Amino acid sequence: MRKLGLIGGMSWVSTAMYYEAINKEVSRRAGGLASAPLLIESHDFGRISELQAAGGWDELGAILSDSARRLAGAGAEGLILCTNTMHKLYDKVAEAAGVPVLHIGEVTAQKLKADGVRRAGLIGTRFTMNESFYRDRIEAHGIEITLPDEGTRTEIDRIIFEELARGEVKRSSQRKLKTCLTGMAQARQQAVILGCTELVMLVDPGANVLPVYDTTALHARAAADWILSA
Ligand code: GLU
Repeated sequence: MRKLGLIGGMSWVSTAMYYEAINKEVSRRAGGLASAPLLIESHDFGRISELQAAGGWDELGAILSDSARRLAGAGAEGLILCTNTMHKLYDKVAEAAGVPVLHIGEVTAQKLKADGVRRAGLIGTRFTMNESFYRDRIEAHGIEITLPDEGTRTEIDRIIFEELARGEVKRSSQRKLKTCLTGMAQARQQAVILGCTELVMLVDPGANVLPVYDTTALHARAAADWILSA
């Protein structure tokens, strides 16, 4: 098996989900007592989110690049960034890493394409929804992306930072997400992309009004495939 490095803590809540999902998949497929060879560097999301809000992307790029170098130096043969938002800095991190970095948007786009999805709704942080770095990656595969209206985007971003990234799940927020997804289904989207690694806490991917693409699960699955492919 190959050793994978996880740049995590954004938030710790979803990094815990990655850790469990990767190990479950490796254990299921390799059998016996097998578990995933992993290195994890978990950041302080208090500091990271302050820098995001202040537009400190150069400093964030330096922080994540240092992390990538440390993990590769410690023996990680590949890396993942356990957040959609920080893929804004993907090119910088990949360059610093010098080892493969599995892109969460790329993994998601491949799955949408394989399933024949041509039109999908996207929800995530304000950065992921309002900027083009993530959408472009998906749309490059011929998939058209639609966003919720501005008020809904603001509310979803608030729920992510004020609730989910602190480990809180509220019924009122589950209802808001349900309304958002119902609107997407009525607007004839074929699927919704949970483009934030905590959003699955509010949505049941197995029981919804339209197919749900959970980026945490897809990314963790790709990570396990990569670990097992050598
Ligand atoms: N985990 C979230 C994501 O997937 C948000 C955390 C962040 O801002 O990095 O985008």
